[in-house]
Amino acid sequence: MFGFDILDFLIIALIFSPLERLAPTIRGQKVFRKLLLLDLFHVVFTGMLITGGVSILLLMASYALKGSFLEEISPAIQAQPVWIQFFEILLIADLIFYAAHRAFHKISFLWQFHAVHHSIQEMDWLAAHRVHPFDQTLTKGLSIIPVILLGFSPTAIALFILLYKWQSLLIHSNINVPFGPFRWVLASPVFHHWHHANEAEALDTNFAGQLPFLDLLFGSAYMPRHKAPQKFGTNDPVPDDYLGQLAYPIRRWISPQNSNDESRDRIAAAE
Ligand SMILES: [Zn+2]
Ligand SMILES: [Zn+2]
Repeated sequence: MFGFDILDFLIIALIFSPLERLAPTIRGQKVFRKLLLLDLFHVVFTGMLITGGVSILLLMASYALKGSFLEEISPAIQAQPVWIQFFEILLIADLIFYAAHRAFHKISFLWQFHAVHHSIQEMDWLAAHRVHPFDQTLTKGLSIIPVILLGFSPTAIALFILLYKWQSLLIHSNINVPFGPFRWVLASPVFHHWHHANEAEALDTNFAGQLPFLDLLFGSAYMPRHKAPQKFGTNDPVPDDYLGQLAYPIRRWISPQNSNDESRDRIAAAE
């Protein structure tokens, strides 16, 4: 159940790696880049920890809400066509994702976990996996568990999870895909690359995972035309090794003298 699917991983690698060579956003980035091994550790071990964590949260939430009002709403939800349910799931899940993601940026305690993801300096599909398991267990759990408990169709949920997975790989990838008129409808690589930019004007922008118009709606959008981010990462002292990254937020609480709150203000520190 919590296993790592090597075939799935190879298929993804065989699709994304050639595309990143054919149509790169940032030229000259290598396949065998720095911290490749670290990100492979995240693919295998962080992936298992997140699946386990979300499953435990789902069991706890199902138990806590058994027999609640949710069971009365389910029949009405299930009576809708699957495609309508799919769009409802997309909107509900990404609204929650937006709020959770923004909280992980704005609350210093949560930022220490999310800084691991923002330590990515070379954007590609593999780097998408560099996340702290606590961060993504909570963010993914909070966005997907409500739609499961509301009783949405398993087909619609499965379609949503499929879209989420491929879109998440795409938005981190080094593939130049112009979304044209859909640039504010669906999150694109350039939209999320700006989220990762270590540049003052892009700090704390583009929190949506899939629907960029949510950032327009809540005043956190940044995607200028004819301009691309040049520098990625964070100035926070996130270690380069796997166990170091898992322990990083805990070390920051234990040694608050190293945990300067202005670490969040990574741009200011760079200037
Ligand atoms: Zn973020
Ligand atoms: Zn990201």
